[in-house]
Amino acid sequence: MMMMKRSMKLLTALLMASTPLAAHAKASTALKKEAIAEVDEQAKLVQEMVDSVYSFQEPGFQEFQTAEYLTGILAKNGFTITMGVAGIPTAWTATWDNGDGPTVALGSDVDGLLGLSQIPGVPQIKPLIPGAPGHGEGHNSGMPLIVAAAIAAKEVMTKHGIKGKLMLWPGVAEELLATKAFYVRAGMFKDVDVSIFTHVASSFGTSYGDSGNNGMVSVEYTFKGITSHAAASPWSGRSALDAVELMNIAWNMRREHLPLTQRSHYVITNGGGQPNIVPGEATVWYYFREQTFQSVRDLYNTGSDIAEAAAKATGTFVSRRVLGYAAPNFGNKPLAEAAHANIEMVGMPKWSSEDQAFAKAVQEALKFKVEPLKTKVEPLSTPENRKPSTGGGSDDIGDIMWTVPTITIRFPSNIPSMIGHNVTSAIAMATPVAHKGAVAGAKAVALTVLDVMTTPKLVSDAKTYFQTVQLKDQKYDPVLTAEDQPAIHLNKELMDRIRPELKKYYYDPSKYDSYLDQLGVSYPQLTPQ
Ligand SMILES: [Zn+2]
Repeated sequence: MMMMKRSMKLLTALLMASTPLAAHAKASTALKKEAIAEVDEQAKLVQEMVDSVYSFQEPGFQEFQTAEYLTGILAKNGFTITMGVAGIPTAWTATWDNGDGPTVALGSDVDGLLGLSQIPGVPQIKPLIPGAPGHGEGHNSGMPLIVAAAIAAKEVMTKHGIKGKLMLWPGVAEELLATKAFYVRAGMFKDVDVSIFTHVASSFGTSYGDSGNNGMVSVEYTFKGITSHAAASPWSGRSALDAVELMNIAWNMRREHLPLTQRSHYVITNGGGQPNIVPGEATVWYYFREQTFQSVRDLYNTGSDIAEAAAKATGTFVSRRVLGYAAPNFGNKPLAEAAHANIEMVGMPKWSSEDQAFAKAVQEALKFKVEPLKTKVEPLSTPENRKPSTGGGSDDIGDIMWTVPTITIRFPSNIPSMIGHNVTSAIAMATPVAHKGAVAGAKAVALTVLDVMTTPKLVSDAKTYFQTVQLKDQKYDPVLTAEDQPAIHLNKELMDRIRPELKKYYYDPSKYDSYLDQLGVSYPQLTPQ
């Protein structure tokens, strides 16, 4: 009831504020049109960036080429670059300061996923380099969008003497949920007033309130036993693999008695060397996901209790290392409302008949649900019109969301019906569908930046909502301790080995109009080959 009263009050306040806001919006339509034109001028650059990052195919913590490439473009456009922020070699910030005004943080993820290399633009599963990482979530499109939006906003702000500061940052190793809590801990957002994040989708929209996403702890349990001859003297050994197996069995039994909202999954990253040696060391890597700071912590503690019990039962010792953390997601209402109005103003990309034919060909060839590229933007997603959450995925943007007022804008760079974290989600990501979606997303971001820079009330409303609604029942409470450090060793060995091969496939915009051109893929390719 208190919540109801509070949100009614807030609603009334917002309605009362609507007159000056509307008056302002009118005044800024010309500015917004300029920003839209600025983004349109960068459509070619967006295509080059989306295709280039796709071609780099870099997984979490190994986004070196991506970092060098994107910061190079930003430096050329007058942004000040700081490399290696928060103790993470591939993390960076790019800032531009136009004097006293709001500081707006702009970010999106940049990493790929293991084993998901895919030739873009073909309606079939076909790896570009078998076994290599790839953009099977479409994270190659997000930062290109942000770069274009920032350059456009900068142009308009410069021309009209609009004061304020931009701070761009990349979501390094998002697929490992492994950096944003460290960014926050390093103080990257301490001077930020509001933050805008983007994520690829097949739809165009934004949301506010508790998103229903799960928070998460990524943690590795390493068991140490005693090696021995597995046949001659097994009694002298203590198997670390036994401990891993026992932990997993115990976890899977406990799973039945956990809330429906939890998600948990594991992989065994070290199960021993060869069968005739009792494994002296074994490692299992768990993701524990739940909906609130406390329930994430509780789930993680249950996992650690079970690990200890498995160690005890097998006569082994267990240690753990946190590899990543993600807070539950919570979007800021005033920002989301401003962004939603801008998304409506921008509208969906104008899909060509080729784009629609390509989407259909991919869906049909994969035997997925056939659904055209969307032609309408999404309604604003609110706690009232969303279905109650039964748990789900995570995004470490949550850590930033609980630090400064933040929204996620989802932009339409992918085709509907694809499977997430799967090669099928890579197929469209270096085609005109991805390019057009990123341009549309860049416009929505640029317009929302201008709203923030020119409307002090929007900033104060965003902060009031953050303090009085978002922080009412929960505060940011990550499980990270001072000892936890970013897991920058992840994927290094793989990339040291495979990078020379990947380099052969980097997109060269000076020679080819598009990456499809470079790969000799016609567009739209409608039949598998
Ligand atoms: Zn993602």
